[in-house]
Amino acid sequence: KGKRAFIAGVADDNGYGWAIAKSLAAAGAEILVGTWVPALNIFETSLRRGKFDESRLMPDGSLMEITKVYPLDAVFDNLDDVPEDIKTNKRYAGSSKWTVQEVAESVKQDFGSIDILVHSLANGPEVSKPLLETSRKGYLAALSASSYSYVSLLKHFLPLMNPGGSSISLTYIASEQIIPGYGGGMSSAKAALESDTRVLAFEAGRKHKIRVNAISAGPLRSRAAKAIGFIDMMIEYSKANAPLQKELSADEVGNTAAFLASPLASAITGAIIYVDNGLNAMGIGV
Ligand code: NAD
Repeated sequence: KGKRAFIAGVADDNGYGWAIAKSLAAAGAEILVGTWVPALNIFETSLRRGKFDESRLMPDGSLMEITKVYPLDAVFDNLDDVPEDIKTNKRYAGSSKWTVQEVAESVKQDFGSIDILVHSLANGPEVSKPLLETSRKGYLAALSASSYSYVSLLKHFLPLMNPGGSSISLTYIASEQIIPGYGGGMSSAKAALESDTRVLAFEAGRKHKIRVNAISAGPLRSRAAKAIGFIDMMIEYSKANAPLQKELSADEVGNTAAFLASPLASAITGAIIYVDNGLNAMGIGV
């Protein structure tokens, strides 16, 4: 029987979430995605008008099908969390049931269960500020959108995940090494995400037989990365210094996610897997 995946954090065809969806679809999985509410309209319109058709092309020549797109804002767990200004915001008022708990309930109602959960989202409003200049509010917002969002997603989706299932998030090496420019508490958020990957692997493994891993990905020119401002420099740096001197393709991360979600990875949990052309292993640039 085919597996079903829910991928949170797909709003265009440039990011890791899209590439992961494609690799999972190519491996036979049914694809559901969660799209950030403010980006939902453009994403659905573009999908409908065929703007992504070229990127939907899979190795066998067919087009990736997305069975359903759910509006999602992963900084809110349920309606009690949502402040008045968001509730009445035009972009939000146009959709409903986009808190984490409500999305999980909707997926359960629509499909009953899933096998694969992917968290491919992050947000740090002060990412371009050094940590020393980051406000408490900005720091906590980075942690809320980029780290706790994963705890919340897994917590709410676990009851509908089939035993043997797999959960994957995306992290970045700035969690463990100094990457000037990755600011606003985003380095802290990735450190939390990686630590949580281990603790969640224990809890979800013991309780539900679910594996929990993270992919530490190299630089990709996604929408989120362009907003940080130094992505072209990071891609150049990697090409110049990594053991494999090529640009990283999003598909290479997608394929790793498909492996981690498959029975081929049945003993891998609590792991941070580098998909970065080996850059993490370098001590100095040469
Ligand atoms: P992306 O822009 O494709 O994905 C980020 C997504 O997060 C967007 O679709 C955005 O709409 C969504 N999002 C933001 N706030 C949200 C919220 N509150 N609720 C729901 N969705 C929300 O960019 P990407 O670079 O592919 O990012 C995916 C993941 O990969 C992130 O965790 C990122 O940190 C990680 N990553 C990226 C790089 C890189 O160089 N691009 C490197 C390592 C790790």
